[in-house]
Amino acid sequence: MTADVIVAGAGVAGLRCALALADAGLRVTVLEAAPMPGGRASSWTDETTGLQVDIGPHVITSEHRNFLAMLQRLGTDDQVLWQDRRLITLLDAKGALRMPVCGWTPPLHGLPLAPRALTRLSIPDAWSHMRLAWRAARLDEQRLREFDGDDALAMLRAMGVRPRAIDWFWRSAMLALLNVSLEQCSGAAALRVFRLMLGRSGWYFGFPKVALASLYAPGACRAVVRSGGQVLFGARVRRLRLDGDGRFAGVETADGHLLEAPRCVLALPPHDLAGVAAETDALQGLATTASYFRPAPYQSTYVWFDRRVTRERFWARTWSVQNLNTDFYDLANIRPALGSRGSVIACNAIGPQSRAEWSDERIVEHTMREIEQFAPQARQARVLHTRVHRIAMAVPQPRPGTELLRPGNATALPGAWIAGDWTDTALPCSMESAARSGALAAEGVLADMGRPTSIAKEAPETYGLPGVLRRRAAAT
Ligand SMILES: Cc1cc2nc3c(=O)[nH]c(=O)nc-3n(C[C@H](O)[C@H](O)[C@H](O)COP(=O)(O)OP(=O)(O)OC[C@H]3O[C@@H](n4cnc5c(N)ncnc54)[C@H](O)[C@@H]3O)c2cc1C
Repeated sequence: MTADVIVAGAGVAGLRCALALADAGLRVTVLEAAPMPGGRASSWTDETTGLQVDIGPHVITSEHRNFLAMLQRLGTDDQVLWQDRRLITLLDAKGALRMPVCGWTPPLHGLPLAPRALTRLSIPDAWSHMRLAWRAARLDEQRLREFDGDDALAMLRAMGVRPRAIDWFWRSAMLALLNVSLEQCSGAAALRVFRLMLGRSGWYFGFPKVALASLYAPGACRAVVRSGGQVLFGARVRRLRLDGDGRFAGVETADGHLLEAPRCVLALPPHDLAGVAAETDALQGLATTASYFRPAPYQSTYVWFDRRVTRERFWARTWSVQNLNTDFYDLANIRPALGSRGSVIACNAIGPQSRAEWSDERIVEHTMREIEQFAPQARQARVLHTRVHRIAMAVPQPRPGTELLRPGNATALPGAWIAGDWTDTALPCSMESAARSGALAAEGVLADMGRPTSIAKEAPETYGLPGVLRRRAAAT
């Protein structure tokens, strides 16, 4: 079988790339090892309830520019329910704290949040961020990478951030956004998130109103087929084939099929890429790099109730060692298809908080207690059904040293590119990073064919006073 381009992996990155190439008129063959598309953003039908469940609940943000551009292209962007007035509801030992969205010019957008935060932190706790904020505001993406070797906890302590602020704000935010403990987190990855919090305002969260994968997978697969390509499932790429000049020429699948094409994009997670790359001399360095990335596991739990137990769409627990789950979603308040049925609460136990050794029963029991702490009505409700998804890797951990290791899309093998959330996108590993990397890889393929074009959207940058400070620091 022949194609213009082979894309290995039908996750967000692979499908974003395949869609862009199909839109450019190329015949694309997508090879996906699993029986369905979506990878770490996949969905399937729960056999007991008939409800479409996701691998685990996901949020989209208004800053997911590349992911949203893909949805706009596919006409599914109206299937996102935006929460554009309330940023987040936090639950801690003192109760629920509702944080608003504010679009004022940075850093003034922090003012409406401050009185709420000061019910949990003291003024010295908040003030202890001044040195860090001054430093972070003056960094750009390149300069923040100088902090990659530091762990985030050591960095915060060195900058004078007080312990209460570290435990209440930093541990919670980095666990939810980067999926690691502060001890395991790259200082650069933490600073990237913080400087965007300081220097961008008005952003908010959204939730799929339908199954997550249905936002992008069927439309992208259809576009590939319409332009003369194909999407094959259960097709695991085992090794690459080269021509006499050492250029990519095709792939061999695990069941022995050969597919020829002059170009390929390997849109695979690091451990899978390492396996494929290790078989090719020119990709040995890439295989070694990919093998440094460690998985952050998740356990995602779904609980079906016989009645509504909350009107909230989304809430998060602030960090505590005893916690299991971090973020909670009542799908009955998000998905219109659930109509007037009872609550379906989905939640994520992230990385260091997940408990691989616990039984499903114990996870559900603990999850029920956490749900009841936010929604006491759950105590009176009957649980109709539960399920626990154990996910070996939600994202690669942004450990110290990994930001500098994130590879670009081009490889040392002519005719081969890579894509995936973990590549060098200047974004935390996420669907947005995956979509941006897919778009960048498609740009690489088209440029190689003598058709340079711009597809990827830039990563967000700071503005307002932090933007001025950043530009002035870059000029000196
Ligand atoms: C529970 C959970 C919650 C999350 N929450 C959020 C969130 O709220 N917001 C957010 O933006 N992101 C979130 N993420 C992260 C997000 O899902 C990922 O960053 C993104 O989906 C990664 O996409 P990808 O295409 O890079 O990789 P993948 O989705 O891993 O795609 C790679 C594909 O390659 C296939 N494959 C592997 N090896 C081979 C091979 N040899 N040959 C062919 N195919 C192969 C895999 O089966 C897979 O389908 C979450 C992830 C999980 C699991």
